Amino acid sequence: MSNQMNKDRVKAAIEVLLAEVGEDPTRDGLARTPDRVAKALEFLTSGYEQDLDAVMNDALFSVDYSEMVIVKDIDFYSLCEHHLLPFFGKCHIAYLPRGRVVGLSKISRLVDVFSRRLQIQERLTNQIAEMISEKLNPLGVGVVVEATHLCMLMRGVEKQNSFALTSAMLGSFRENSRTRMEFLELLKLRGDMRSALDPARVPEESSEGALK
Ligand code: ZN
Repeated sequence: MSNQMNKDRVKAAIEVLLAEVGEDPTRDGLARTPDRVAKALEFLTSGYEQDLDAVMNDALFSVDYSEMVIVKDIDFYSLCEHHLLPFFGKCHIAYLPRGRVVGLSKISRLVDVFSRRLQIQERLTNQIAEMISEKLNPLGVGVVVEATHLCMLMRGVEKQNSFALTSAMLGSFRENSRTRMEFLELLKLRGDMRSALDPARVPEESSEGALK
């Protein structure tokens, strides 16, 4: 999935879009808009280009430490692949090391790499968990993502579904409810949100996701 964006083609497409929504693409305020949109899109989808090995590999450390590592409240911004509108919120990550940890700043870089793509929240959550699992080979990893979806809010439909909570629990976080609860307690999620994240109650990830 490379992102060799052809800016001229993107600009031409945005000009078409502007005309189709009833605008005059040549008026002063819009003259540079196709160029701005192309640059913005290039940044917002830059996650396709990032080399995750380069991001992670030079920041892995061997340690004699086996307590839970938890990184809370990582801000992220992404684009829903169904409407190309933003969804954004916070990502919380925890893992139980098996002799290896990663620099904390790399964890948020990892979140950026996967969020700066066209996404659905469920896949974003799973990709983060699986990459940490692959790179660190921890005893377990848990990822919780809470996000607001502008495609729901702005289109005025299903306002009650504009906020979504997703989780991915692997290894000991899936198998051991005490480990999982320790993580969820540390997040101080509301009780009803916590029980919604009990893997026993969450069906296996669907490819489409709940948010359409
Ligand atoms: Zn959407």
